[in-house]
Amino acid sequence: MSDSRPRVAVVGGGLAGLSAALALAERGCAVELFESKRNLGGRAGSFVDKATGEAIDHCQHVAMGCCTNYLDFCRRVGAFESLRRVRTLHFIGPDGERSDFSPSRWLPAPLHLAAAMRRLRFLSLRERISIGRALAKLARQRAAPAAKSVGEWLRREGQPPRQIERFWSVVLVSALGEEIERASLAAARKVFVDGFMAAREAYEVYVPTIPLAALYDEFVARRLGEIGVAIHRETAVERIVGTSMGVDSLALRDGSRRTFDHYVLAVPWSIAPKLLDDRLRAAMPHLVRLSEMPAAPISAVHLWFDRAISPLDHAVLIGKLSQWVFAHGVSRENGERPGGWHYQVVISASRSLAARRNEDIVATVRGELEAAFPAARGAALLRARVVTDRDAVFTPTADWEAMRPTQTTPVPNLFLAGDWTATGWPATMEGAVRSGRLAAEAVLCKAGRDVTHDPIVAPDLPRGWLARWLIK
Ligand SMILES: Cc1cc2nc3c(=O)[nH]c(=O)nc-3n(C[C@H](O)[C@H](O)[C@H](O)COP(=O)(O)OP(=O)(O)OC[C@H]3O[C@@H](n4cnc5c(N)ncnc54)[C@H](O)[C@@H]3O)c2cc1C
Repeated sequence: MSDSRPRVAVVGGGLAGLSAALALAERGCAVELFESKRNLGGRAGSFVDKATGEAIDHCQHVAMGCCTNYLDFCRRVGAFESLRRVRTLHFIGPDGERSDFSPSRWLPAPLHLAAAMRRLRFLSLRERISIGRALAKLARQRAAPAAKSVGEWLRREGQPPRQIERFWSVVLVSALGEEIERASLAAARKVFVDGFMAAREAYEVYVPTIPLAALYDEFVARRLGEIGVAIHRETAVERIVGTSMGVDSLALRDGSRRTFDHYVLAVPWSIAPKLLDDRLRAAMPHLVRLSEMPAAPISAVHLWFDRAISPLDHAVLIGKLSQWVFAHGVSRENGERPGGWHYQVVISASRSLAARRNEDIVATVRGELEAAFPAARGAALLRARVVTDRDAVFTPTADWEAMRPTQTTPVPNLFLAGDWTATGWPATMEGAVRSGRLAAEAVLCKAGRDVTHDPIVAPDLPRGWLARWLIK
């Protein structure tokens, strides 16, 4: 008996491709996923630490409560229990003083933030009031005024450099992966409105308790296998062959050709145009231009000490090169570890590191950890490793934001997914999962399915009454 299910090829096994594959297979499509590398997960992946044989994430990835699609994806593959929900965020001020940010669980959003802001001891009362006023203004203006960047807007609003350094940059650089002088005001508004002000639980942070590689292999790949998705690892797609009338086939790097009804291209923006043959490129000139979209680097400094250097499982360091510090497994177990106690320091928008030697970066980071955590002063550093992804995230400028393509293309059976496509989100796991789900909805519509009664994209967190009234 012939298989009448729509046959869909997904190219790229990052979160965008994986979420598209899951959504399509769950709705009865015959899906095959092609990933050039051995490991799934793309930029949100892991490497094997030679010293211990352990899988270590290239860089710590965290999600927030507002990431409804990423969290729903984790639930669907059974991985949600492998995420730890963090409700109190620890900040270490420039003088080493600790502040705990723990918004109210009963005051309506965005008032729930007020008491938590009061406890940020590295900001004066006057600074907190001034920040609160600017946040309220940001929430009320939907149409962004003509400011080249959020940095420019903040200066125009009279936010002094100390406030910018201690508050605005701290939040925005880690959420957007980019400097405030390059990121748009709209991207900043998205972070503060959706990530903090719109709903009480939006700010909560979800940290994986297992390496990302295990999350893909033990949960995602297993679930995809159960619902019949064929995953082809180490199978690079060399060319997507077709005309403006439609894609005919995939040319694989091993020389073979594969034909499907629909094709979802879920590779990074710099690679997507290169995979299209000349006739397809001619049909999508805007995509070719997008390959020039600017990107920002993110670095992770991995350090293994001979002992625990802090009782905290995470901390945000204010006014330092080191932005976020994550301790691996500190809350789960105590005692001896053969490989040492692993800490990871995340530095977003890390362009300034390019000219520095790794030993020099490690020395600076170690000094900052010693200043923040007294126990680090007596600890021996067993080894360290600096991992930088130079094209970690696209830069969310106002100009490029307007050019992000939708998941449908002028070619009827070709669809796009990836954090860089139009989702309204910055380059995040949420943006990637959303894009995959939007691409899946578009494929199903093209295949004649009605998705209006069974939408794939999960809704945003519901806004409380006060947030609905205050936020435009
Ligand atoms: C260092 C770093 C830290 C980050 N921190 C966070 C964070 O804390 N929170 C957060 O939400 N986001 C974070 N991000 C962003 C997040 O990782 C990305 O937005 C997301 O993973 C992008 O997923 P994607 O599927 O769109 O693209 P990718 O992950 O890039 O996936 C694309 C896939 O396509 C494959 N591919 C490429 N060419 C081919 C080909 N020819 N044939 C077949 N396959 C191909 C690639 O191997 C890859 O697996 C971070 C990113 C980096 C790099």
